[in-house]
Amino acid sequence: MSEKFLTGKIALVTGSTSGIGLGIAKTLAQAGADIVLNGFGDHDPAMREIQSLGVKTLFHGADMRKPSDIQNMVETVEKAWGKVDILVNNAGIQHVSSIEDFPTDKWDDVIAINLSSAFHTTRWVLPGMREKNWGRIINIASVHGLVASTNKSAYVAAKHGLVGLTKVTALETATTGVTCNAICPGWVLTPLVQQQVDAKATALNVSIADATKQLLSEKEPSMQFTTPEELGALAVFLCSAAGNNVRGAAWNMDGGWAAQ
Ligand code: NAD
Repeated sequence: MSEKFLTGKIALVTGSTSGIGLGIAKTLAQAGADIVLNGFGDHDPAMREIQSLGVKTLFHGADMRKPSDIQNMVETVEKAWGKVDILVNNAGIQHVSSIEDFPTDKWDDVIAINLSSAFHTTRWVLPGMREKNWGRIINIASVHGLVASTNKSAYVAAKHGLVGLTKVTALETATTGVTCNAICPGWVLTPLVQQQVDAKATALNVSIADATKQLLSEKEPSMQFTTPEELGALAVFLCSAAGNNVRGAAWNMDGGWAAQ
């Protein structure tokens, strides 16, 4: 695998203004891919960081709850750059609550952003990938796509659904140069998880360091966070020629969480 083997490829990474999405976008850019960023918040720092790696960038602020925004994002990229070669469905949110107390608007948002958006992006990019007979669709699921935890009904349902969508997409493209796989991280210290650490520290009246240790000890045998860079390296492998026949996998990188 040469260092810049993705030169000339266009990678669209949803939810890439922070956390795992930004980490994967950076790793794909280091391998030479031009990057389409998406997400909420200030996107300028992410744009500058990716541009400093010597690749082209584009930003689209599609709200991943909205199918029409998603269609517009893919059409905008295809108009500007002609194609999407690599799609990373990463945008996601969390809401923690028991089923009885789960607000229905939060349920709808989690399902829309973490699951339905991947269906919409996939259906809009697939024709172009089929035409070129090359493409990579990487769905950032979670270890919660493989096992459950309490108080995360919408998230667990969405991530199990995303693993299912991954398998169907892989089967429907199995005889083509398009592959689809899911990556299933355990804990990764991003803003999404920092909120859960902070909530634990407040609830238990302990320090952030103690809350972090407790969070890891409950589920993650390695007692280590996975990093966005490690997840990016797996995404780069899936984009390489060595990944040509990896299809429909749900690959956990979770410090042993799902092995228990
Ligand atoms: P994060 O909060 O750091 O980043 C989420 C990204 O999604 C941000 O760029 C945000 O702007 C974007 N986003 C949120 N709502 C959006 C919307 N409606 N439209 C467009 N963009 C939107 O979170 P993260 O931890 O980096 O999570 C990224 C993905 O990884 C999620 O799908 C998450 O479920 C998954 N994941 C995270 C962990 C973890 O421990 N952090 C573990 C397993 C899986």
